Amino acid sequence: MTTEATSEELRIGVFICDCGLNIAGAVDCVEVTRWAAELPDVACAVQNKYTCADPGQNEIKNAIAEHRLNRVVVASCSPRQHEPTFRTCVLEAGLNPYLMEMANLREHCSWVHPGDWDGATLKAKDLVAGAVARARFLEPQEEMTVQVTKRVLVIGGGVTGIEAALELGNQGHQVTLVEREPSIGGIMAQLDKTYPTMDCSI
Ligand code: SF4
Repeated sequence: MTTEATSEELRIGVFICDCGLNIAGAVDCVEVTRWAAELPDVACAVQNKYTCADPGQNEIKNAIAEHRLNRVVVASCSPRQHEPTFRTCVLEAGLNPYLMEMANLREHCSWVHPGDWDGATLKAKDLVAGAVARARFLEPQEEMTVQVTKRVLVIGGGVTGIEAALELGNQGHQVTLVEREPSIGGIMAQLDKTYPTMDCSI
């Protein structure tokens, strides 16, 4: 049976972002914050107007110190936008950056459910509950740098393989291109109108 990754007392902080009206215009963030505060292992839940802005990040840092948080959940936008921001934020507050989890209340909820206040709020709660559940299993991670050999094997000498080999070669990789047929070019050899010079399939 899977168990939580740590034996220490879990103290999770949940930070719900309004994103102005981007989220708060479609989701009842006050209710989601109130509800999140009552989830098991949640030590505090805070609603921010703009969590990525300095005041929002400072609220996270202050709460980590005040509530002795050892896990953080930020319910805001896509991790593609601000995951590095919040990893740095919790690191600056003394937490391992990988003890931070996100819920995407904007792209996955408010933006796709405009006008459905109750439904979007319910879904936002589910997304936050999922992030809190994942946060329970987070473990501190250490980053490391490893040397890689700049050699690449490209399998298939069609137009995609040739292009990939050329691009990688231009980036300084030593490329080996493997083709099972006697000549490279693949289907290009049959497309005399598209590749009239046939120079790709010699
Ligand atoms: S953290 Fe994301 S959702 Fe929140 S204010 Fe910044 S951009 Fe908007």
